[in-house]
Amino acid sequence: MVLLSTAFCPPVEYFAVLAGYSSVYIDSGENYQKQTWRNRCRILTGSGPQDLCVPVVHSSGRAITEIQVEYTTPWVVKFERAVASAYDSSPFFEFYRDEFFAILDSHPATLWELNRLITEWICRKIGVAGGAVEGELPKGEYSSSAGQLDLRDVIHPKRPNTILADMGLGRPYWQVFRERFGFTPGLSVLDLLFNEGSDSILWLQRPKKVLLHACCAPCSGAVLERLLQEGYQPVVFWSNSNITPREEYDLRENELLRYAKKLGVPVVEDDYDHTAWQNCVKGLEKEPERGARCLECFKTRLLRAAEYASRNGFPILATTLASSRWKSLEQVDEAGSWACSRVEGVQWWPRNWRKGGLQERRAQIIKEQGFYNQTFCGCEFSRTREEL
Ligand code: SF4
Repeated sequence: MVLLSTAFCPPVEYFAVLAGYSSVYIDSGENYQKQTWRNRCRILTGSGPQDLCVPVVHSSGRAITEIQVEYTTPWVVKFERAVASAYDSSPFFEFYRDEFFAILDSHPATLWELNRLITEWICRKIGVAGGAVEGELPKGEYSSSAGQLDLRDVIHPKRPNTILADMGLGRPYWQVFRERFGFTPGLSVLDLLFNEGSDSILWLQRPKKVLLHACCAPCSGAVLERLLQEGYQPVVFWSNSNITPREEYDLRENELLRYAKKLGVPVVEDDYDHTAWQNCVKGLEKEPERGARCLECFKTRLLRAAEYASRNGFPILATTLASSRWKSLEQVDEAGSWACSRVEGVQWWPRNWRKGGLQERRAQIIKEQGFYNQTFCGCEFSRTREEL
């Protein structure tokens, strides 16, 4: 279950959640909070991003469903003018403007009702079926430890979030002012709708096919389990010529094959060529772990994976490399972005695979499955003298 608050012309990630999760709860039992998306949205104008607010009456400490919209000021006219001026030259605004403005012009009495009408209208226009339920949060039904997500205060105007990146989304879409500002993220879904029209759904739906570069079974266990729970169709790419000796490589690969078979996940095995790998890290042999050699090592392996993904139609590449706390998240991210930038049609998925209970689940699965859990990273330089 995912929890959302009500929101006025909500941001793109709000709709990605509505499109991507089968059970979404929009909480009607909370109290109103000022300076949140509950009564504001952000659009992109010729001068840059602009926040537009819905004025409300006597808001402090009140239940969200009781908040009255203030119509004694001409905010609706000003809002419509600002939106029209920002999106008049967008490809799809003219097809939506009348219906959208009609909702505002109908002056729904409460903020809850105004938001509900707009959200439902956008869902229909974009084609988000979703399973959103509105109502008071049932006591005892929410538990973060059960993998449920509370996004009510995560999707917030002043706090950047990683929701789109975590869902494998967030690539740029076409924007009217892209030449002036470059791609501007963090806007209302109106920006997506007016610029991409009915194709908006393509930007909000998680691609199902994921190529997952896997370094070993212990690091892959929780990641694979979570991907399957979230409805992805992962294919594992085993490309680890860093590992030596060959017996160690075979041992790690067999552990992964055993687990993948259990889950019914296909595995693609890359060639083993430790000499080629040594050439890639030449001159960096004395570097410490997390140093320059490791970055080259990640780049070498993830480039092989990105090339395979590009040749075989995988839109997204991820890796289990950073699920271990011994690895640098930044280095893995840099290597993955670099590898995907060198091939056509593959997006790097920079998700933090240690969050959301995955670190704890990783340890549990290692025990449950009795995995061989290596004591060194993989290459000869990562072994202590005693191990060699
Ligand atoms: S220590 Fe690990 S990540 Fe670093 S170069 Fe060796 S095998 Fe690669």
